[in-house]
Amino acid sequence: MILHVDMDAFYASVEERDRPELVGQPVIVGGTPEGRGVVAAANYVARQYGIHSAMPAVTARRLCPQAICLPPRMRYYAEVSKQIQEIFQRFTPIIEPLSLDEAFLDVSGSEALFGSAAVIGRRIKAEIRRELRLVAEAT
Ligand SMILES: [Mg+2]
Repeated sequence: MILHVDMDAFYASVEERDRPELVGQPVIVGGTPEGRGVVAAANYVARQYGIHSAMPAVTARRLCPQAICLPPRMRYYAEVSKQIQEIFQRFTPIIEPLSLDEAFLDVSGSEALFGSAAVIGRRIKAEIRRELRLVAEAT
């Protein structure tokens, strides 16, 4: 069985986690509207305004002028990604990362030890939430 684990609004969620004053605010991580950047991640509040990743930052600013626009901290997100992968490794050594916030996990050999893929998915989500205070989807 293959599990697909995907972090929810990863960069924006990491910023919100680290800066509680951002919670409840529309947050965009990505290029500045002054430049020619694109949105790398938008949190839930920003998405309510129709903002989504890969959208030009100028469009995002038009949709939600009050959005808080943060420069990406890629090296830091990579560190957090490594912490997420350490949680994956508790359940399987066969991990294929697709990006910093997404991976395929082959849990075929783990089910006898940990339970079905669905159970493993729930445990991974719970451990990511508890230890890293981030939300993952596992399907
Ligand atoms: Mg994601």
